[in-house]
Amino acid sequence: AWAAASGDREVVLAGPRSFCAGVERAIEIVERALVKYGPPVYVRRQIVHNSHVVRELERRGAVFVDEVAEVPEGSVTVLAAHGVAPQVRTDAAARNLRMIDATCPLVAKVHSEVRRFVARGNTVFLIGHRDHEEVVGTQGEAPGQVVVVADPDEAGRVRVADPRRVSYVMQTTLAVEEAEQTAAVLRDRFPALNGPRSDDICYATTNRQQAVRAVARDADLVLVLGSANSSNSQRLAEVAAAEGAQAYLVDDASTVDLRWLRGVRRIGVTAGASAPPQLVDDLVRCLSGLGRVAVTETRVADEDIRFTLPREVS
Ligand code: SF4
Repeated sequence: AWAAASGDREVVLAGPRSFCAGVERAIEIVERALVKYGPPVYVRRQIVHNSHVVRELERRGAVFVDEVAEVPEGSVTVLAAHGVAPQVRTDAAARNLRMIDATCPLVAKVHSEVRRFVARGNTVFLIGHRDHEEVVGTQGEAPGQVVVVADPDEAGRVRVADPRRVSYVMQTTLAVEEAEQTAAVLRDRFPALNGPRSDDICYATTNRQQAVRAVARDADLVLVLGSANSSNSQRLAEVAAAEGAQAYLVDDASTVDLRWLRGVRRIGVTAGASAPPQLVDDLVRCLSGLGRVAVTETRVADEDIRFTLPREVS
């Protein structure tokens, strides 16, 4: 396989790629909590959906749990970037946990939209993937009044008690075009539908999808660095495939199948918002081991967003 995979290549990096502001903030919260309070620092769920990030924080003394019920009373506990249902905060308070909230402010914004719509007595359609942690958390704001709608097909079938009082919000990491199609079906069926004040799909998701699309157009192969449970990374691979490129989501360079590289001259590379930039460097280095590699970047947007840290760690 090595022989067949070897050759000179062009690598085109999609820009922006890799960490977004919400992920950087969440990781920094755990790092600072470890310094300030000392290990162990408990973290409910994966702080961000990336196996490398989780392993590195574990090495430094973070302990990942599924539920706050597993955390010893009174311990320092970080809530992950994807957000939680209010019930989780209640449970944490009941255990006297010293809670630090790493929910991305852009996810928190969607939660507050849900509360605003629910307070008006609306049913809220939540466009998103039913089992994703962010969606579970957002729906938890008002379980009886938030209805998850996964795709245009479900949007065409969903029923509500009062079709005149309906709103919608979205998961932050959806494929932009598909989510718009779903919203369009809802708008068509429910003329009274209220939408969010500004887009729920976040800037990082939007920019990474645009960038990978630009790169995928002229690539034989697109490699997306990211973990399999990362929603925004999965969408990057789908968007690349929709442009006609062969596209794979890989955790790191070691999971690249050399057979994919056979006859491939131009490789597009990107990384999901939860994937460390280091993984991209490692991948390029591995490709350089197979022949000469010329690296360029196609950048579609610049990002300078930073979020402030919660006071417990600032
Ligand atoms: Fe926040 Fe978007 Fe990053 Fe999710 S992908 S953590 S919503 S900035």
